[in-house]
Amino acid sequence: MNAYLDYQSSKPIDPRVFEAMMPYFQDKFGNPSSLHQIGDEATKIMEESRQTIANFINAKKEEIIFTSGATESNNLAFFGFAMRNKEKGNHIIISEIEHISILNITKQLVKLGFTISKVPVDQYGRVYLDKIKDRLTDKTILVSIGYANNEVGTIQPISKIGAFCREKNIMFHTDAVAAEGLLTLDVKRDNIDLMTLSSNDIYGPKGIGVLYIKTGIRLNPTIIGGGQEHGKRSGSENIPGIVGMAKAAEIMQKEMDMEIERLLGYRIKLIKNILEKIPRAYLNGHPEERLPNNVNLRFDGIEGESLLLSLNDKQISVSTGSACSSKTLEPSHTLIALGLIHEEAHGSLELTVGRFNTNNDVEAVIKALPEVVDRLRKLSPLYE
Ligand code: PMP
Repeated sequence: MNAYLDYQSSKPIDPRVFEAMMPYFQDKFGNPSSLHQIGDEATKIMEESRQTIANFINAKKEEIIFTSGATESNNLAFFGFAMRNKEKGNHIIISEIEHISILNITKQLVKLGFTISKVPVDQYGRVYLDKIKDRLTDKTILVSIGYANNEVGTIQPISKIGAFCREKNIMFHTDAVAAEGLLTLDVKRDNIDLMTLSSNDIYGPKGIGVLYIKTGIRLNPTIIGGGQEHGKRSGSENIPGIVGMAKAAEIMQKEMDMEIERLLGYRIKLIKNILEKIPRAYLNGHPEERLPNNVNLRFDGIEGESLLLSLNDKQISVSTGSACSSKTLEPSHTLIALGLIHEEAHGSLELTVGRFNTNNDVEAVIKALPEVVDRLRKLSPLYE
């Protein structure tokens, strides 16, 4: 049996979600734009699903726009908002540790005449409100800070940032993908104007996501066509995906508290045992302000990638960081922003636990990792 501890990269769909989706591939195949009964049924289930997802984040139904996933939601939030509001200002603030999709979107926005300020983070990956304040100009139209970091699991002071942006009348976007199902999301409590969500991160299907857009905020569409989703995102709706995401949100809302408690137990056990058993091993990210499922460690003298492959030989799946950036040889921009040198960043390993892990998976890692680290260090010219 494979011990899978890479839930941040991909999650299996919950069997209850899969079951809920099945009828919408064959029997209930209608298009909400059709005027007949079959189309009406599709509209009905789509709007019910929208309401369920709105409840999950304390939003209104009309504020939920379905997209193909988090990358598209981030594109709609940035390009949609920036292009619509460029007369008001051309300055956007993000952090140095945003997801690669946001970093690449903002590079494009620079070519379109926008100025981007990246706020630094501390050694634990925390963003400080003062650093945002320092960068504010009269041209600032948008602040975007990820709810929690997908690599090191550090949780940001989102409520404080949201309250500040609301006071200054600057729009606040957060990519909440890493936090979904692990922290309670509430767009009203946190004064969030735009929020990116993905279905797979709550054990729903891939290929579906949401952008929450607070009532009254105007965006240009990034996908233009038949005018679906209030004209903000055209294209025939992915009804099986929408039903699946709503079912995933409904299950998550009911079971989240218990699930978090269990995952936190695994996280504490992994960190404690690994740091105790392996010399010169260190935790990356914040010790407390951290997602309950995230363990990110570095080991002197070895490469994260050789660790990953050696664990893979022992049927244990882990990650060296963001799966989205694994095609480059560059060290993680997040770990570098935390102040790690290249060798330290390359020596890092990310373990993320989830719904279907058992204590046996955790035990397997605690047993295998010290052996693997020891063997690789003996072979390493970098380790004295
Ligand atoms: N934002 C964050 C924080 C992510 O971790 C990811 C990847 N899971 C994305 C955005 C992009 O998601 P997707 O590849 O599903 O579009």
